[in-house]
Amino acid sequence: MRMIFIGPPGSGKGTQAARLVGRFGIPHVSTGDMLRAAVAAGSPLGQKVSQIMAEGGLVGDDTMIALVAERIAQPDARSGFLLDGFPRTVPQATALQAALDESGTTLDAVVMLEVPDELIVERITGRRQDPQTKRIYHLRFDPAPPDIAPRLVHRKDDTEDACRTRLAKYHAETAPVTPIYRDMGLLRCVDGVGAPDDVTARIVSALA
Ligand code: AMP
Repeated sequence: MRMIFIGPPGSGKGTQAARLVGRFGIPHVSTGDMLRAAVAAGSPLGQKVSQIMAEGGLVGDDTMIALVAERIAQPDARSGFLLDGFPRTVPQATALQAALDESGTTLDAVVMLEVPDELIVERITGRRQDPQTKRIYHLRFDPAPPDIAPRLVHRKDDTEDACRTRLAKYHAETAPVTPIYRDMGLLRCVDGVGAPDDVTARIVSALA
């Protein structure tokens, strides 16, 4: 299964991807997680992207395309992967298609998680992650137990300003990717509003 999750920031891509990869036995390839790991490690890539990410901007296409091409060529991704956060621009989608064509493989589905903008800001600014388990909580909608709450981390780009920049980028740069996958017959639009279990069930039925 080769699958892509597309959706605005805070639409639940990371949460849903983590649930789906177990079911399909494929690696979760999150470009945001890869970049955050590079920033945490202080690598040259991390130094290059940390400011862009903190402000909610997009990292350059060439950098992202090289990163993903290398990742999906790894042995664990040969028979499938779930891409979360890539492609985010039309050039990235075109480059991905070229890489798949070259390796003689095809995509099976593109899941688009739909959540209205008004809900996104509320979801994102209250979002917190447990650095140990990577589980995502929300201060209001899904509070962490008292023993975990003190160690939760607030992503640097989950401030209201950065969130609005990311939403604007999503509409300008990422939304134009969806017609490409619609034309290919791969696009599955799923309502991303509601309890995570309900959204998972909708995704599973959209993929069936
Ligand atoms: P995410 O965790 O997917 O929300 O990504 C966090 C941040 O990483 C984004 O706001 C961008 O700054 C950067 N990023 C992740 N994936 C991409 C991509 N495909 N293209 C450009 N920037 C990206």
